[in-house]
Amino acid sequence: MDVLISGAGIAGPNLAWWLARGGHRVTMLEKAPEPRGSGYIIDFWGKGYDLAERMGLMPRLQQAGYHVEHVRFLGKDGEPSGGFGAQVFDRATDGRFVSLPRGELSLALYDSVKDRAEVLFDTELVEISQDARGASVRLSNGSQRRFDLVVGAEGIHSRTRDLAFGPQERFERFLGYSFAAFTAESYGRRAADAYVMYGEPGRQAARFALRGGASLVLLIWRDDERAAIPHDPDAKRELLRERYAGAGWEVPDFLAALHRADDLYIDRVSQIRMDSWHDGRIALVGDAAYAPSFLAGQGAALAMIGGYVLAGELQRSAGTIEPALAAYERRLGDFMRSKQDAAQGLARSFVPRTALGLKFRNLASRVLGIGWVADLLVGRSLRDQVELPDYS
Ligand SMILES: Cc1cc2nc3c(=O)[nH]c(=O)nc-3n(C[C@H](O)[C@H](O)[C@H](O)COP(=O)(O)OP(=O)(O)OC[C@H]3O[C@@H](n4cnc5c(N)ncnc54)[C@H](O)[C@@H]3O)c2cc1C
Repeated sequence: MDVLISGAGIAGPNLAWWLARGGHRVTMLEKAPEPRGSGYIIDFWGKGYDLAERMGLMPRLQQAGYHVEHVRFLGKDGEPSGGFGAQVFDRATDGRFVSLPRGELSLALYDSVKDRAEVLFDTELVEISQDARGASVRLSNGSQRRFDLVVGAEGIHSRTRDLAFGPQERFERFLGYSFAAFTAESYGRRAADAYVMYGEPGRQAARFALRGGASLVLLIWRDDERAAIPHDPDAKRELLRERYAGAGWEVPDFLAALHRADDLYIDRVSQIRMDSWHDGRIALVGDAAYAPSFLAGQGAALAMIGGYVLAGELQRSAGTIEPALAAYERRLGDFMRSKQDAAQGLARSFVPRTALGLKFRNLASRVLGIGWVADLLVGRSLRDQVELPDYS
């Protein structure tokens, strides 16, 4: 089959890898001018980890990754107010857990498939139509092409979804927060292998020290309504200055570092919930179809699971597209919804609204310092309750 994949983040190159392995011809579009290596830190474990291992990527991902030892909650003057040892994640996964920049995973996936797929950077889908024999697309470089299957893998703001299924508002479930992530170069205060967080009612700030002197900064604040996110970099900085005005701890330093950051990313914390991820010869994979939000801590792994099953079902159905896409949804629908439900449950208490709520959250976090309690609570939430067929 000739397959077009739009988006070369995580879901796109991962799907391309499994399709190329099955002998299909893959074309991948990416709107950025080159592979994106930057981004926030993600946790990576479970069935996504298993798949990355089967793809031979784990040595590289382990080398790029970090083994977080502590999660610390601090008060206004940097005094400890809660937290727990992060070894609980290692114990719950038998050591198969790594934290790494999202861009490193994306680059590793891209490198693994770049010689086996046609990749068009700086290119987007403009139009799609389909008939019984194929899908026709018009691309932003002016070309018209025809494929057997078109897969949207453009993340939460998916162009393919907009073109083929309808506007984002129909599928987006806003979870009541917005966030900003950026790299602060040469940030002086560092805590090796610790995720350090500070909270005030309705807003939170965190940093994570990277090799080479920079730190990743993550700001999360409550928003009662689904706010529009500005595109202009100055407007984004202004939004953060306004949201974090008067905040304590190191937040003024973060806001100062914002001026020098060239990778500022702001978005709403939302999920994508759809009744169906396919229509004829057009399908969605990853965040485009079932974004769980970063509160799930697992969107990248879910995107990889989705690509594996989609490619596997196409292989099994020997080129008949509809049954394969239906099987892809049948196998993963309940699983993805359960991950989304768990993340939505967490959203209620993630950034407490009141000083009392914050105190309670910080105290409760200490419970995770008690080994058996942590193992019980975390172990259950980390398990991936899905069987992945062996399509080989
Ligand atoms: C702050 C934060 C923390 C997170 N933490 C974790 C975590 O701990 N663990 C975890 O597993 N996940 C985490 N996630 C989620 C994870 O990053 C996503 O679920 C994952 O990246 C989804 O992969 P994707 O390929 O579907 O989309 P993306 O990674 O968003 O990739 C989409 C790609 O499509 C490209 N694109 C966009 N529009 C177009 C277009 N019109 N045409 C062509 N290309 C286009 C983009 O440039 C990008 O390369 C986190 C997310 C955030 C924001």
